Amino acid sequence: MEKKIFTLTKSDIEIYEKKIKNFLPDHIIDSHVHLWLKEHILFKEVKPNNSFNDFDAFQQYSFEEFSDNSSEIFQDKKYTGIFFGNPLGQIDIEKVNKYILKLADTGEYCLYIPSPEDKLEGDTFNKIKGFKNFLGFKPYPSLAKKENNEVSIHEFLNEYVLDYANSKGLFILLHLPRKKRLADHRNIEEVKYLTKKYPDVKFLLAHLGRSYCLGDISEAVEQVSKIENLFFEISFVNDWEIFELVIKKIGCKRIIFGSDMPVSLMKGKNICINDNHYFVTEKLFSWSISNNDMQLNFTFFLYEQIREFIKALNKLGLCKDAVLEDVFYGNIKKLIDRLV
Ligand SMILES: [Zn+2]
Repeated sequence: MEKKIFTLTKSDIEIYEKKIKNFLPDHIIDSHVHLWLKEHILFKEVKPNNSFNDFDAFQQYSFEEFSDNSSEIFQDKKYTGIFFGNPLGQIDIEKVNKYILKLADTGEYCLYIPSPEDKLEGDTFNKIKGFKNFLGFKPYPSLAKKENNEVSIHEFLNEYVLDYANSKGLFILLHLPRKKRLADHRNIEEVKYLTKKYPDVKFLLAHLGRSYCLGDISEAVEQVSKIENLFFEISFVNDWEIFELVIKKIGCKRIIFGSDMPVSLMKGKNICINDNHYFVTEKLFSWSISNNDMQLNFTFFLYEQIREFIKALNKLGLCKDAVLEDVFYGNIKKLIDRLV
């Protein structure tokens, strides 16, 4: 049965007004927004294991839905995005790239999803690459179609894509594979290798390397902190301790705001128990923890993320307009301006 995901309550508005609005700059660029339409879905899972393939929860997410939602939850702000498709295997990637192509034509910033064997010779890519607001690529581990995403980065991000991105100085928004995420030494070695071999690519590490638990990043961060063409995108992380660590080790100039909409519009929060990450959500899904017998009053994952980021800045004495302006706008804008 379809569940309505997006609801804006009085208590959400209060959180925004009191804890968020005045900290954020007037213009926010969200570096991580997924879009797709119902007709791009190839098949549905009987029991989804992930919010992005739960098409009962999220049937589709169009640009119009993004515009409506973002203007409601970030009132009085100009909120723009970097857009790309839903990259899961249940989606027709060619069709969703075509949808993104149409959006590129309207002037929005876009990324193209390359399949693992993509030689960048197809029609859609040839058209999208002509737009100055085309910023690069969003490769994705599950497109390599191996159990549990236990693949190397090279298995879903090929040399054609890397060479092209390097020749134009484009972005690659990198979603790390493997169960251990950033803590997997093979991922670290591959990130070091790729950032060195392709120095003109701007690598954005999605979700801080999928570090939803402190243990995912606490030791690994030292090994990647000095890589100049690696940027740290914070979508869906909502733990102030992780932010504190990253701010201390990386500084605020290479931290980039992203939301991972639409899933961050769910009501809930990540929790880590025994070093494992779980979604706790207001409504129960097959991939989350909840309790239908309780009167839960949650707010958006996205608000939790921003609140925790502000909390980390406060603890470090860095909660200043200039810093927030950098993370939510300036850092990514500077990178974009170097391309277009
Ligand atoms: Zn995402």
